[in-house]
Amino acid sequence: MEKSGREKSASPKSENITASISTVTLPQREQRNRHRGAVLWFTGLSASGKSTVANELEKALFKKGVQVFVLDGDRVRHGLCSDLGFSPTDRQENIRRVGEVARLFTDAGFICLAAFISPYRADRLLVRKLMDGGNFFEVYVNAPLSVCEQRDPKGLYVKARQKKIKDFTGISAPYEPPLNPEIELRTDKLAVPDAVEKILRHLRKVCGVKK
Ligand code: ADP
Repeated sequence: MEKSGREKSASPKSENITASISTVTLPQREQRNRHRGAVLWFTGLSASGKSTVANELEKALFKKGVQVFVLDGDRVRHGLCSDLGFSPTDRQENIRRVGEVARLFTDAGFICLAAFISPYRADRLLVRKLMDGGNFFEVYVNAPLSVCEQRDPKGLYVKARQKKIKDFTGISAPYEPPLNPEIELRTDKLAVPDAVEKILRHLRKVCGVKK
């Protein structure tokens, strides 16, 4: 039998482990929630607007009674991934772990808004595969580097330019833009409420979120 995305990604160290079958099924959860679960994967440069849009979207969805949760870099880098830095291998492991967590949220019937720079295409593809092709939607939060640098809400670009931060995406580390994102938000042209509305339109179609 073809292995699922999660089985394929399992560490070789975890052997002799069988998947536990929950007695509450996903369809039962989805029926109660009145929407399907999904991962919306926000990728883009630092300060492109991933967290801003994800948090506004979370508010809008929560108001509609949707089971929704934002996962972002700041949340996991202090805990789950506090042992990881910003080298390509550490970034890969960061995204793998977060992908697993996002997947658990969809198993619980949630719409998980994952906001991570996630600069490498291969890492994002890994998460997509982990979701077995279902209900993974890549949201490319696209603003030119010059705009992100101007916004610089956390002063990180200034530090990166001064070489006080190394491996900084867009300055001293690469960013590989998505080739076929399900949604693209040009946040240099699109106001936050319009970006939220664009995603809501998508979620009405694919997850049955009500108007
Ligand atoms: P990221 O999570 O991608 O690092 P943030 O959301 O933390 O980015 O920061 C984006 C900054 O840009 C915020 O200060 C936000 O207020 C500002 N901003 C200005 N216009 C927009 C827009 N149209 N969409 C998203 N963010 C915007």
